[in-house]
Amino acid sequence: MRLKDKTALITGAGRGIGAATALLFAEEGARVGILDLRPEGMDKVAATAQQKGLAIKAFRGDVTQKDQVARVLEEFIAAFGRIDILVNNAGIVIPRPFFEKTAEDWEKTLAVNVIGIFLCAQAAARYMLPQKSGKIVNISSIRGIDHCGREGVMDYSASKTAVIGLTKTMAKELAPYVNVNTVAPGHTKTEMTAPLPEEVKRNMIEGAYLKRMAEPEDIAKAILFMASNDADFITGQVLLVDGGFSLKRT
Ligand code: NAD
Repeated sequence: MRLKDKTALITGAGRGIGAATALLFAEEGARVGILDLRPEGMDKVAATAQQKGLAIKAFRGDVTQKDQVARVLEEFIAAFGRIDILVNNAGIVIPRPFFEKTAEDWEKTLAVNVIGIFLCAQAAARYMLPQKSGKIVNISSIRGIDHCGREGVMDYSASKTAVIGLTKTMAKELAPYVNVNTVAPGHTKTEMTAPLPEEVKRNMIEGAYLKRMAEPEDIAKAILFMASNDADFITGQVLLVDGGFSLKRT
């Protein structure tokens, strides 16, 4: 029960890594709220929690819309009284080769993956700072790590590098009361990666020294660590969870 009596809001938690994180947090004793664009996914997550005797509350919203984020935070505080943990997990990718990539792709990707994190963090920090405590975990990606871009997703890679930069700045601005860290997942089995060609997935598995893709639960466990009291003296850092994909070959 590493999150006993804590309250946590997880964005983009209608499926994938966010859903696994929400369920793990609830199992670890947290009172959990999830925020997503799509209510159907959130209903499934809440139903799964209920089957396990746990409760997860759904909040419909778009992380790119300041008014919606503010409304969700108000509803969250009304329901739970305080916010101890924010996991900024919502993210999108629009794969398209260089010459087909558009400015609109860039704008959409940066709006969710970067500005969405800023809006949610700013709204949550307004409650965390007066509490004099809080943990914010931002989700980057192996693609945000310096040597690891990928063809077709330059805007995604740039957005995920930006997450690491904004995390470090936020860690300074919200210190000493709020810890802000990044978890950077490697290739993970979710609906985001499901459409990739089998050959690409094989290469992802081959490239990882642990010879598999991550399960969403592998990433959720790292997020749990960063959100828990075990990470009380860690701020502004990146925890890479990639099965050794980023290790350099000799
Ligand atoms: P996913 O596509 O399965 O789930 C993302 C969720 O975010 C969806 O439920 C979606 O509805 C929600 N979402 C999208 N835009 C939103 C918005 N504007 N407001 C609110 N919710 C929104 O993705 P996933 O694979 O679970 O990835 C979760 C996070 O992990 C993302 O930030 C992603 O970039 C990152 N990541 C994933 C992988 C991977 O291999 N799957 C690898 C590295 C990083």
